[in-house]
Amino acid sequence: MSNSPALLMRLMASAYSVAEKSGAIARRVMQSGDLGIVEKTGANDLQTAADRLVQQSICASLSRSFPKLTIIGEEDLPAETVEEDLIDTRQAEEVLLKPCPPEYSGLKEEELVVWVDPLDGTKEYTEAASLLFSPTHRQKVHSGSERQLLATALRLLDHVTVLIGVAYGGKAIAGVINQPFFNYQLGSGADLGRTMWGVLGLGAFGFQLQEVPDGQRIVTTTRSHSNKLVTDCVAAMEPHSVIKVGGAGNKIVQLVEGKASAYVFASPGCKKWDTCGPEAILQAVGGKLTDMHGNAYCYDANVKHMNSAGVLATLRNHEYYVSRVPQSVKQALS
Ligand code: AMP
Ligand code: MG
Ligand code: MG
Repeated sequence: MSNSPALLMRLMASAYSVAEKSGAIARRVMQSGDLGIVEKTGANDLQTAADRLVQQSICASLSRSFPKLTIIGEEDLPAETVEEDLIDTRQAEEVLLKPCPPEYSGLKEEELVVWVDPLDGTKEYTEAASLLFSPTHRQKVHSGSERQLLATALRLLDHVTVLIGVAYGGKAIAGVINQPFFNYQLGSGADLGRTMWGVLGLGAFGFQLQEVPDGQRIVTTTRSHSNKLVTDCVAAMEPHSVIKVGGAGNKIVQLVEGKASAYVFASPGCKKWDTCGPEAILQAVGGKLTDMHGNAYCYDANVKHMNSAGVLATLRNHEYYVSRVPQSVKQALS
């Protein structure tokens, strides 16, 4: 028997390493102040140089090491040669050291689908940049001190993540979330960023699992893609409090770190690359992600990208939240 790690663990080790590189790219583009923003479907659906470079980096790196993988990235990019310095074929030791769950030890490259959201929370990334680099924007939206403004911008940067999900047989089985600006509170000189990862049947790493205080219903939802259906559905959960933040990845991080008890988004708009990696990490620690009817999403290569029936995710008590979804929401989202 060979001692070399199973394919899934080698893939996860590569995904971890390239997610760290991606975080560095996201920080570098932000630092340059030149985001190269392009509107995709509209002003609330943006792409920046970081989205483009990170997607190139992840897709080229993973397909160099695992040429038979199916990789689906969010951004529609022209086929062109990727700069060699964007490619990273290292494999993180901390992942290689963990055992592969037996049920996944025989997986083959061609059976796996990798969903890549190069930057999740792009809207917040661009808003932070405007606060940091555009004096006219600052004057328009911010009347506070320089210090308050900086704090607002940095808080928005915390919503930004890089997401890599691995699916097998239509199920999200493993994921990586890199948060490029984690630790910003520590100020200049601090080591920024962290990488969280998980595999079903193995567990999740890179964070401290925490639950919200017993009985507290704290709902986290979108801050920039809301509408009446979204707010009605949040209200129907009878939450003790509501948090509005950007990013699907960031909201799953809130669930596993005990900052929120449910992620409720009763609207289409989230896509498979937003949920695959985060869902795997959440599920690896006992949580659940479904549509608003309580049904699981499928992550096969040929599925439609939109999570049209919304996103409902919890660490515990999923059935309670599903039972609270109003009939009107269920009818509107199918
Ligand atoms: P949010 O919670 O608003 O940050 O959304 C989570 C993810 O879903 C982000 O990647 C968003 O870009 C995406 N998303 C949600 N709603 C929409 C929408 N109406 N249009 C485009 N993207 C959306
Ligand atoms: Mg996204
Ligand atoms: Mg994105």
